[in-house]
Amino acid sequence: MLLVRGGQVVEPSGSQRADVLIDSGRIAAVGPEIDAPGAEILDASGALVVPGAIDAHTHFGLPVGEVRSADDFESGTIAAACGGTTCVVDFAGAGRESPDVALGEWTANASGRAVIDYGLHLTVTSVPDDPAEAARLFASFLERGVASVKLYMAYPERLMVDDATLARALTASVETGLLVCVHAEDGAEIERLTARELELGHVGPDAHPATRPPEVEAAAIRRAAQLAGDAGAAVYVVHLSSAAGLREVRAANANGLRVLAETCPQYLYLTEDRLLATSEEAANFVCAPPLRADVDREALWSGLADGSVQVLATDHCPFTTSDRRRGVYAREEGWRTFREIPGGLPGVETRLALGFQGVRQGRLPLVRWIDSVATAPARLFGLSHVKGSLAVGLDGDVVVFDPAAHHRLDADRLHMATDHSPYAGMQVTGWPAITISRGTIVARDGEPWEAAPGRGHFVRRLPFDWPNPELPGR
Ligand SMILES: [Zn+2]
Repeated sequence: MLLVRGGQVVEPSGSQRADVLIDSGRIAAVGPEIDAPGAEILDASGALVVPGAIDAHTHFGLPVGEVRSADDFESGTIAAACGGTTCVVDFAGAGRESPDVALGEWTANASGRAVIDYGLHLTVTSVPDDPAEAARLFASFLERGVASVKLYMAYPERLMVDDATLARALTASVETGLLVCVHAEDGAEIERLTARELELGHVGPDAHPATRPPEVEAAAIRRAAQLAGDAGAAVYVVHLSSAAGLREVRAANANGLRVLAETCPQYLYLTEDRLLATSEEAANFVCAPPLRADVDREALWSGLADGSVQVLATDHCPFTTSDRRRGVYAREEGWRTFREIPGGLPGVETRLALGFQGVRQGRLPLVRWIDSVATAPARLFGLSHVKGSLAVGLDGDVVVFDPAAHHRLDADRLHMATDHSPYAGMQVTGWPAITISRGTIVARDGEPWEAAPGRGHFVRRLPFDWPNPELPGR
């Protein structure tokens, strides 16, 4: 039994001074001055007590060509725990393999390794033509506890689907209660712009943003929103990166379409000037969508604050500097063009604290912070029956967050399995003092505690239900 005593409990509905009692891995009571003889007392005075955070977008051990994202389920979930995250939802599937193969592989990767609980999304690259067959396929995902799929509108060589496929997925999602996520970038336009840059001899990382401008994102969101509307479905836009994209999300919802969105800390903090550094340094900032301009950062903070963007996730997909240099073909002499640089940034450990800086700076209401990192991802991804809030009976996933703790975001101060940090040199104020996963302390002061590999369980998720508009952060 753990008694978290004297903290300020923060939930999307508000905050209050309260104790939290965790018994047998679950939240047993929340209220003032709980008396629990025999419980281990954790002093939370001066701290915020929040639901364990949920990262709805990670890529652990993702193969990209000849290299693999640096964190596996063990190092990735340890890093997550150190940063206050008690559940991740990772994307199973690396290409056009069958859903069975993808789920089998990801289950094998996670079991015995994960330190905190995890769910799986499925990356889908084809959908049966026959609607009944498509619905049966999606229903079979749900039976296996997978309540969401992602389709890519980019990467023709590996992942991209055409609009007809996306439309079939959206239709099947309505019938089965899955949530369709989209990587919204117009792949054909990216191909055209990439060919142009390469023809001009622009092969370095600094040319990468020009091949994926904001309009490429905005156009894809417009199409996805329309297809969702035609199907009577909702659609969830992963890693929203631009002001133009956000305008499309808002316009779609204003027109009665149902578009949900997520952004990531890199789009709130980093800008494309990072790609102007030396090639080697700049390569560490290659990701898709690319980093953008200050106006985009500002717009995304406002979208997160007003709930147009519901979720703050990470798209955690780090690579080591040497894998970046070798590129996806693992060439001895290194990558030849920006296309070969494996893209993605580390983030699973730093999300909560980076979001909290927005609270400190007055950009993000406290309740929106906790909704976007914990409660909204639980609500949208079928986890509310076990996680995402401090309600009695839910899993004892609790974070004692010290709003005054200082933490440097250098790679050697963090636990993600990469040798560089996009936030190197930055010091944040506010870091988890204690992370509790189902009643076990898995991290203290940003270091692993009883973080035994294999203690994390697969969480079966429930069908998607369009959120109640009365709730904050719809
Ligand atoms: Zn991703």
